[in-house]
Amino acid sequence: MFEDRYSRQMRVPGIGKSGLEKIRASRVTLCGVGALGTVLANTLVRAGVGHLRIIDRDFVEPSNLQRQVLFDESDVTDNLPKVEAAARKLRAINSEVAIEAITADIDRTNIEAFCADADLILDGTDNFEVRYTINDIAVKLGKPWIYGGAVGVEGMTMTIIPGVTPCLRCVFEQSPGPGEVGTCETAGVLGPIVSITSSYQAAEALKILAGKPEAINRDLYMYNCWENTSRRVKIAPLKGRKGQCPCCALHKYEWLDGDHGTQTTSLCGRNAVQVTQRLAGKLDFSALKKQVEGAKAVTANKFLMKFTVTDAGTDHEFTVFPDGRAIIKGTDDLDRARTLYAKYIGY
Ligand SMILES: [Zn+2]
Repeated sequence: MFEDRYSRQMRVPGIGKSGLEKIRASRVTLCGVGALGTVLANTLVRAGVGHLRIIDRDFVEPSNLQRQVLFDESDVTDNLPKVEAAARKLRAINSEVAIEAITADIDRTNIEAFCADADLILDGTDNFEVRYTINDIAVKLGKPWIYGGAVGVEGMTMTIIPGVTPCLRCVFEQSPGPGEVGTCETAGVLGPIVSITSSYQAAEALKILAGKPEAINRDLYMYNCWENTSRRVKIAPLKGRKGQCPCCALHKYEWLDGDHGTQTTSLCGRNAVQVTQRLAGKLDFSALKKQVEGAKAVTANKFLMKFTVTDAGTDHEFTVFPDGRAIIKGTDDLDRARTLYAKYIGY
């Protein structure tokens, strides 16, 4: 459409005409379109990737606007899922990129379908459960992926090329337990650390997509934008953990195959629980509207339905998706959330 859209990028040594052609022919799967994910999507779509698949389970809320750069106030008032709001902006930014928007909770049952045709997988998530699942599928399929995390004023990135670098489990064998690491909700997060972290991830992505994997950062890179410190941890010696890494050495994909992961998840610090129910068909919002007669603030669009009920003296806001998944606010208790789900939605 615009002849010189990529002219500045092409002049970068290491990219050039052939690098640009490779970027434009590439397919990328981005897991999570929140803080890191919106910056990643924005940067890669402007850089001209061929196909970007974005997957996220959430909808846009007012507390996202401080750092999630693709969203605005109208996305909050329209109750849009994050991927739908992001896709609209991304298509307006660069109509040459094919954007595939999927509202779903990424887990071991669906991740292979999301990643099988990708040249690169990007981590824009906020939890270790999904990251270990990404690590398993990336190693299993032999695809590069880029880990990123940002909380408070600190960020961390790591680039994983299976067979070349250590995998996530070589470096972090177990996921941190609940409460061991802060989350955006408990520790807060400063906007710039999100941009810094995801921009490092995006730079690594462009090296790989341009066919220059030799240029990647092979260290675990950590930085603090308030204390003005940064640290590189040499992780290369950990590769395969002397043949004992369950994932990349023993090829036991415990997060893909095992019982890790739950169907009901507390959304840490948000006083909310996600209940996943796999339905055979799509949930009928008009039938559900009749079913929850008496509920307050009932709204629905084609992507999600919201309503609030008062149960045992507490207000619970339900956000329900067509696949039967629900995010229930007003509790951190999994059993209580399952009970509320059964009571108001059924199944
Ligand atoms: Zn490993």
